[in-house]
Amino acid sequence: MSPEEPRILIVGAGIAGITLAQLLRARGMNPVLIDRSADAGRMIGDNRAGYMLALMPMVEPIIDELDRREAYLDASVGISRYIAHAHTGRVLRQDHLGDLLAEYGDYRGISRAGLLGVLTADDCPIAFGATVTGLSADGTTVTVAGADRGDRRQSQSSDFDFDIVVIADGMNSHTRRLVIGQPDAADSVESSVADSVDTAWGGWVCWAEADADDDAVNEIWGDGFFLGIYPVKGAVGVFLGCPDARQSLGPRRFAAEVRSRLTVLTPRIEACLTAVAETDDAFFWPLRDSRVQRWRRGRTVLLGDAAAGFLPTAGIGAGMAMESAGVLAEELSALAADSGTDSRSGGLAAVDEIETALDRFEARQRPRVEAAHDNSRALARLMFDRSRLFAFVRDQAFRIISIRSALKPILRLLESPPERV
Ligand SMILES: Cc1cc2nc3c(=O)[nH]c(=O)nc-3n(C[C@H](O)[C@H](O)[C@H](O)COP(=O)(O)OP(=O)(O)OC[C@H]3O[C@@H](n4cnc5c(N)ncnc54)[C@H](O)[C@@H]3O)c2cc1C
Repeated sequence: MSPEEPRILIVGAGIAGITLAQLLRARGMNPVLIDRSADAGRMIGDNRAGYMLALMPMVEPIIDELDRREAYLDASVGISRYIAHAHTGRVLRQDHLGDLLAEYGDYRGISRAGLLGVLTADDCPIAFGATVTGLSADGTTVTVAGADRGDRRQSQSSDFDFDIVVIADGMNSHTRRLVIGQPDAADSVESSVADSVDTAWGGWVCWAEADADDDAVNEIWGDGFFLGIYPVKGAVGVFLGCPDARQSLGPRRFAAEVRSRLTVLTPRIEACLTAVAETDDAFFWPLRDSRVQRWRRGRTVLLGDAAAGFLPTAGIGAGMAMESAGVLAEELSALAADSGTDSRSGGLAAVDEIETALDRFEARQRPRVEAAHDNSRALARLMFDRSRLFAFVRDQAFRIISIRSALKPILRLLESPPERV
């Protein structure tokens, strides 16, 4: 490392952390990226590696900057249709989502593991089996400990000094709690915990076999259930949602109940319900989110789901995590470039310059992330309801409300992407 390069620790090698690390490395910097998972194969964190993502066009500038467009297209499928079903299973409307988004770029389905493969390009140093157990008040002395649960290796801890710590360990971030837990943190991220929406629903996530409709997403907004079907390369991702109180039924019985309530069963819906019933390791994802009021404290900064953990209703969390990583990479690399030309600082950026850069990142990105977060919350209010009357009224409204109006805030973000500096 050159003396003017800030020492950057990125905690969490998920979508946000890997995107940031790769962008910084592409700009000649050397961040340290750690993940608590034992190895790449077990990089599951709280979120599990194996689920489906529909990615909005905002990821494309990042993919291009990393020169990974071909790999991205190869690992994903183009989604062009959104098919909305009534609570009975009948098709209510079909929207040409691909056409709606075309002016901004592609809308694509990819597995989380597939996306991580595209971003890492098999060349992404990660220190696995490591986590942060302590942070100094300004966030720059970090205690890193072993977190390898796979072979029960004894965890050893050591202190390291960094100039900037990026907390990117996802939804329910543990590292964020180290910042929240500090005695003088009243003005910081404390309110984040309060600012959380619990829909009191969750859903089983699993894979079904790929079919001929790999350009179509189907969603059934039911009365007491939700079924979402999302194609990726070589498979179909399935999300079967239910109120928390029904979770104890288990996926098999709940899928059977949904099947018995649908009066129209397409082969695709049938196959997806069968997959939920028969997959041994379908995991249950709670539909809760969280949002942090301030992203910077000292020289630590939150990124991705650690800053704003999304309900997966609008399918935008990963897209925003990547966009935010792009903006943070710009701010951090500008910092290194500026300090390199500033002889007064002896090479390295001064503390206040680092804090100003992190504040600038927050000012540029938090309003955008919160707009998308609000959109996800608004959709959740419409999607998850138990009443048949509500479902009936919603079915009628669906005839008039287009996907364009449902996604208006997100379309606005696509219309005005972050300014490149
Ligand atoms: C079922 C489901 C469907 C979704 N669908 C979509 C979609 O269609 N489109 C979309 O854009 N988004 C979607 N999302 C949201 C998207 O997955 C997240 O917004 C995105 O993964 C956030 O990235 P992240 O890097 O912040 O967190 P993650 O990708 O979760 O990464 C966090 C990383 O931190 C590591 N980690 C955790 N704790 C620690 C620790 N203490 N120390 C060190 N490392 C740690 C984990 O191992 C993991 O690698 C979906 C989410 C789910 C669950």
